[in-house]
Amino acid sequence: MTAVLACQGVRKVFGSSVVLDGLDLEVAEHEVVALIGASGSGKSTLLRCVNLLEELDDGTIHLDGSHITDPRVNPDLVRRKIGIVFQSYNLFPHLSVLDNITLAPVRVHKRSVSSARAQALELLTRIGLADKASAYPDRLSGGQQQRVAIVRALVNAPRLLLLDEVTSALDPELVGEVLDLISDLKRDGMTMVLATHEMNFARQVADRVCFLDGGRIVEQGPPSQVLDAPVEPRTQQFLRRLA
Ligand code: ADP
Ligand code: MG
Repeated sequence: MTAVLACQGVRKVFGSSVVLDGLDLEVAEHEVVALIGASGSGKSTLLRCVNLLEELDDGTIHLDGSHITDPRVNPDLVRRKIGIVFQSYNLFPHLSVLDNITLAPVRVHKRSVSSARAQALELLTRIGLADKASAYPDRLSGGQQQRVAIVRALVNAPRLLLLDEVTSALDPELVGEVLDLISDLKRDGMTMVLATHEMNFARQVADRVCFLDGGRIVEQGPPSQVLDAPVEPRTQQFLRRLA
């Protein structure tokens, strides 16, 4: 079976620092992969490369078998198939919740306003926020805002969802509702790659945990293996520091 995502030999250099150094990663359909690693290990850069927000210095990325890092590819068409959510500042403050969700589908992807709105309302209903459709983001809690941002990333029914530390900016009491939403998406079969520093969450939701160090995945496997019985000294050291 073709992997949904296949990164091969991905290299990314900023100035004199090699952030991704020939990284390989394949993600199967319905699989949830957690990227862990020290701050600065390249987790965000990898997600940004997959969403074509960064240009590779070497290597290739395929989505559903098609070569998306080919320079002839239109990035907007690729991004329509990939949802991405960042740590914070996700919603446009001057747009209502509904307009936040429908902006890209209508403006960028040329969907009809009525179909985008209908789908946005359906998604909001699913997360219990339909009554906030016309509210502005500042009327919502941080957890509600982040759930809206996740739902917004789902509006084009992406093949792949990328989540970059989506709970890091939240007050601790708001983290649970966002993690619950991600668990629901997993249950629905969404293929996801998430960067996280929450090992308990990685343990709960990930099928596979990948530890990044030196620009590569140096250890990977089921959470029980990587988090509880790591074999790589660098993984052991990283986890010891968190403990
Ligand atoms: P992580 O998400 O694992 O904390 P990042 O991918 O954000 O790591 O960063 C990896 C390294 O790349 C860091 O040293 C960071 O400073 C550097 N970096 C990331 N983006 C840029 C950029 N646009 N310009 C220069 N350096 C960058
Ligand atoms: Mg990061």
